[in-house]
Amino acid sequence: MTERLTADAAGIARAAALLRAGGLVAFGTETVYGLGADATDATAVAAVFTAKGRPHFNPLIAHYPDAGAAFADVQETALARELAAAFWPGPLTMVLPRRAGCRVALLAGAGLDTLAVRVPATASARALLTTVGRPVAAPSANRSGQVSPTTSAHVLAELDGRIAAVLDSGACGVGVESTVIDLAGAHPVLLRPGGATREAIEAVIGPVGIGMTPDGAGLRSPGLLASHYAPGLPVRLDAVSVGADEALLAFGPPLQGAGASYQLSAAGDVSEAAARLFDGLRALDQAGRERGLRGIAAMTVPMQGLGLAINDRLQRAAAPRG
Ligand code: AMP
Ligand code: MG
Repeated sequence: MTERLTADAAGIARAAALLRAGGLVAFGTETVYGLGADATDATAVAAVFTAKGRPHFNPLIAHYPDAGAAFADVQETALARELAAAFWPGPLTMVLPRRAGCRVALLAGAGLDTLAVRVPATASARALLTTVGRPVAAPSANRSGQVSPTTSAHVLAELDGRIAAVLDSGACGVGVESTVIDLAGAHPVLLRPGGATREAIEAVIGPVGIGMTPDGAGLRSPGLLASHYAPGLPVRLDAVSVGADEALLAFGPPLQGAGASYQLSAAGDVSEAAARLFDGLRALDQAGRERGLRGIAAMTVPMQGLGLAINDRLQRAAAPRG
């Protein structure tokens, strides 16, 4: 059963406790209802993708109670500081390089070196984030492919029974998603239009380019292709044997003889494997470089549950590089 919580002190305390215990809690912000999970807990983040029924891993936005908390996990560039002063709390999401020691699980950022961060405006959302005391990853609280919810009734229509609780703070005021701006490159690039307008942003930091998000959900512009995390070593799928000059991404009983190996899930559990996927690819990449291995051999992960999203990412990593 999904708990219905009112956004008063008791409801916020209960929602925070559920989040800290690894549960999924939908909560209202000024934009749309987000499906929250402790962003530092890869298992909880994997559960978000399961609840949404997403067939691929896309990077999620990490939510913070204030700019100081956000800049503990990402680099505070000069432009980011100006935008934070002008727009936070509010409907602007900034993509910035992760800091060394960033607490957010790699799965929440789909393995990327950058992280999208935001400080939502509503008092209840900020009180929740303050009480949780950890970054909260939250995509929109709808099933994959459906429209974003702006009331708790919308959330329950799709996710009742799939999440621990919904924190009801009434209807969302803005009703459209946050604007996403990429500040990690040489020039700022608008990745998704939203609650903060381009004109308002340009009034603060000057001209911004237009691009698209890694999952292609944002604006499209020729010449700017979606970029995804991919390991540096080539990936080979559905390995049934492995060489001493290869690194093994194991799932279930491991193949023998690899030059390095990382177990996604000894028990063959796809959710556990999803939570460990990006850590595994990075670990094997590093081991491969240190030991001079020629590639990563990935064992078969079944196409069930999060197995679809895992295979989607492995197939992209295995595709010929241009
Ligand atoms: P949603 O979670 O549905 O609000 O969507 C979040 C949006 O932010 C998606 O379009 C993502 O592609 C985008 N996003 C999140 N993290 C990053 C990142 N590290 N780099 C670029 N875009 C991102
Ligand atoms: Mg969405």
